[in-house]
Amino acid sequence: MPVEDVGDDRYEDAVRRAAAAARDAPEPATLKSHSTCAECPFYDHCWPLAVAERRIEVLGDVWTSVAQALHDLGLHTIEALAGVEAGGSA
Ligand code: SF4
Repeated sequence: MPVEDVGDDRYEDAVRRAAAAARDAPEPATLKSHSTCAECPFYDHCWPLAVAERRIEVLGDVWTSVAQALHDLGLHTIEALAGVEAGGSA
């Protein structure tokens, strides 16, 4: 199926709108585990933010499936996880 040439003006307008949409969009909350992210070209963008936010995904034992299970329990940060462990052992 041939792609029709839309012309430079429409193309550049579409690029401007796409860039604005990406720039103004909130950062996705999705984060993979350390082993996946370490191989990703966006690591330098995502990982420092995850560390700063104390996300559970930065812990070496928290794989993607484990992270999802913890998220389902409402646990997203290292502090939240530590609180559950401290409370559970009492
Ligand atoms: S570094 Fe960011 S974009 Fe890459 S896999 Fe991890 S969360 Fe996804």
